[in-house]
Amino acid sequence: MHKIIRTYSIGGMQVNWYEMTVNETIKRLGSQAETGLSSSTAEKRLKKYGKNQLTEAKPPLGIALFFKQFKDFMVIILLIATFIAAYLGEAVDAIVIVVIVLINSVLGYLQENRAEKSLAKLKQMANPVAHVKRDGQWVLIPSSEVVIGDIVRLKSGDRVVADLRIITSTQLSIEESAITGETLPIPKVSQAIKQQQLNIGDQINMAFMSSLVTSGHGIGVVVATGMDTVVGQIADLIVQAPTQKTPLEKRLQNLGKILIFVSILLTSLVVAAGIWQGQPVYQMFLSGISLAVAVIPEGLPAIVTVVLSLGVQRMIKRKAIVRKLSAVETLGSTSVICSDKTGTLTENRMTVVEIYLNQRLFQVSGGYSFTGDITGARNQAEDKMLNRFLRYGSICGDAELLEQNGEISIQGDPTDVAIMMAAAKKSTSIIERQQVTKITEFPFDSNRKRMSVVINDGNQYYSIVKGAPDILLSRSDRIEENGRILRMDQVRRAKIEQVLNSMASKAYRTIALCIKPLPHGNQIKAEHAENDLVFIGLIAMVDPPRPEAKKAIEQCKKAGIKTVMITGDHAGTAHAIAKELNILPQHGQVITGSQLDQMTDQELIDQVDQIYVFARVTPKDKLRIVKALQANGHVVAMTGDGVNDAPALKNSDIGVSMGKTGTDVAKEASDLILLDDNFATVVSAVEEGRHIYENIRKFIRYLLASNVGEILVMLFAIILGYPLPLLPVQILWINLVTDGLPALALGMDSAESNLMEQPPRPINEGIFARGLGFKIISRGLLIGSVSFLAFILAYQNGAQSLEYARTVAFMTLVTSQLIHVFDCRNEKSIFDRHPFGNRYLIVAVLSSFALMIPVTYVAMFQAVFYTVALSLRDWMTIILLSSIPTIVFGFTKR
Ligand code: ADP
Ligand code: MG
Repeated sequence: MHKIIRTYSIGGMQVNWYEMTVNETIKRLGSQAETGLSSSTAEKRLKKYGKNQLTEAKPPLGIALFFKQFKDFMVIILLIATFIAAYLGEAVDAIVIVVIVLINSVLGYLQENRAEKSLAKLKQMANPVAHVKRDGQWVLIPSSEVVIGDIVRLKSGDRVVADLRIITSTQLSIEESAITGETLPIPKVSQAIKQQQLNIGDQINMAFMSSLVTSGHGIGVVVATGMDTVVGQIADLIVQAPTQKTPLEKRLQNLGKILIFVSILLTSLVVAAGIWQGQPVYQMFLSGISLAVAVIPEGLPAIVTVVLSLGVQRMIKRKAIVRKLSAVETLGSTSVICSDKTGTLTENRMTVVEIYLNQRLFQVSGGYSFTGDITGARNQAEDKMLNRFLRYGSICGDAELLEQNGEISIQGDPTDVAIMMAAAKKSTSIIERQQVTKITEFPFDSNRKRMSVVINDGNQYYSIVKGAPDILLSRSDRIEENGRILRMDQVRRAKIEQVLNSMASKAYRTIALCIKPLPHGNQIKAEHAENDLVFIGLIAMVDPPRPEAKKAIEQCKKAGIKTVMITGDHAGTAHAIAKELNILPQHGQVITGSQLDQMTDQELIDQVDQIYVFARVTPKDKLRIVKALQANGHVVAMTGDGVNDAPALKNSDIGVSMGKTGTDVAKEASDLILLDDNFATVVSAVEEGRHIYENIRKFIRYLLASNVGEILVMLFAIILGYPLPLLPVQILWINLVTDGLPALALGMDSAESNLMEQPPRPINEGIFARGLGFKIISRGLLIGSVSFLAFILAYQNGAQSLEYARTVAFMTLVTSQLIHVFDCRNEKSIFDRHPFGNRYLIVAVLSSFALMIPVTYVAMFQAVFYTVALSLRDWMTIILLSSIPTIVFGFTKR
């Protein structure tokens, strides 16, 4: 076990914060409970003590990456070749190889460095924030800027940002397994503990960095930040997750191993055969190396990384942050998206429209604003009742009224904001809470679907309970009518249920309000405060569906992706909204949480494909839903924002969390964060995921077909007893300089228009699936053939030298590849899409061509690459022959 420090030192003195009272602590830390730190003090402290961060091992950046390039197998082979060439006195060959390897390393370095940097930026964007009080205002700041003395707010789902002394606790429980190993959440208090040498686990008035708020809320004052915190001291507990390779990268790595094996095999065969035929050893050795070079697509891994990270940046522009690179690929395979209703499919802008009270329906007008009125009261007494109802509704809620420069606004849980807003429509005096003392509060959570507060109103203690109507109805045995408390009988209950159903069918979100008179206010347990209730009334609110959600759902249907709605709301409400959004097809089912509870796992697996809406479910049900869908072979994206959503997010293929309303825990468990909490953003991310994968296919196809062409030119010559059509330096040049740019440009190609009109790609689809293997071999075969043809035509022309024939072959190979690259933009044929629609590609092809000109015409390079100048006639032959592969496959469309 780790030795855990129990004291903090401040100004060289050992301090036990837990022994001090709240006031003492705040004073010692030079802070103030009401106003927090001033921003100038905070700034000074940040400078003095540094950022609130745990130092991590640095990712390989800069020069380290540069040297990583040298480890690659390919480079090793080339370096060995260089040594041998140098040993045999072939200085020019040796130097050229070294220079090309260097160019390759620099390019690879630039690409990977860029990728790493954007990944680092990504990590930063997903970084947590903290709610602190500065200059008397609650503000959101990056948690790295939290300083000692900051007053910090904690709520369920937060990762504690620093070591804190608790100032207030409302049912605050914190799980500290990251520090103590204890997995049971610990209830926190604010009172001082007068005891010395207390263990971390027993300091129940402290909260430690990295621990997790599992329920309730509270406020604390920061006593230590960064490496001075308890976790900071347990240095070896901080393990930096190794950057994992994505499935595609792993597949490519395996392909790479196979290709390395093939290259060694080919090389040895050729060398052995040649020597057996009596060819000069050095010549055969060079051929072997040339082949090895031709086989390995060395640019590929770097381009994959660059294209992935470019895609990730496109996603950020569309408000989706990918936390793991592998998610990019999985996104493209997503076949089911399970989405929360409230806030993701809807706007989370709730507005109260109806109130049911005293057996009457009241209408609320004015929409989402402070204007408007509540009509329906028949007399003074009913008006008073309404006022009290609204006041209780506002007291029992997690929202607060803010006044700034005469403007009022309400902040907090959207449901509670709506209720307060309705009250304010009538009169803001209703929501001024001074008249009552809140004694305890049991906060809302999605499992209980209710919350309550215990208050002292005048001389009477009450609990006010607010929550899902069906749940509160089952806990009510009385009802208030015309100021009298009556027994809740069948008739009254049925009447309420009827009202509820009619509200739900209009897609209204419904909430019930109950009270319970209590003999005293001390030591009340939630169970007691929320049972045997007196039913008062109902609140109905609208939460409009997001306009873009409907379109996104339509898009999913075309793309073969099923959308499933998950909500804690009433089945009727969920049903109505699902209809409005077109989620629910003719025979689609709506299932409630209690129906779900009665199903066995197998039954759920059998039925889950027909279920489109899960209503009145709790977060723990999400995990079952994910597992059932996965059992049926689906790739599941699941959204969530709370602590209890984390297991489902972790187990789904794509965990999606909310950037605005999501908790730290949910974000940490997710693969994708939606900056705008919007369902449509998930769909954009899926689209980008597909787009990126298709682009990767495009350049894999291009690079491998090119390599097949190169191998075949050489093999044809060796088999037919011709001299080698290409020299190693020439192949190297093509591989490293000419292929790289066009491949990268293909990786940045725009998406094909039918991208979202195809079913999702199977998750375990191989690299060569969907005809890619055939395309590579067939194109490669033709490219190799025309290049070889060009070589023998030039060679048998007789009059000219072998170098001339090689130059022609060299140029034909390059030209045919640069024409073929336009074909790779399309899965079908070059004619199905404007071939010159990719500007990057045009630039890349032109620059590659431009690079070939000096190689052929400048004397210095001619000497290096063993080339000669070509005539216009030569070029016409080259271009004619080079067009053949693309024309042939353009018409066969295979
Ligand atoms: P969802 O996020 O899917 O809408 P919730 O768990 O938030 O589901 O809500 C479930 C039900 O709990 C709602 O239909 C409503 O009746 C009730 N409810 C939601 N928020 C509150 C709240 N702040 N106070 C009281 N009851 C609430
Ligand atoms: Mg909710």
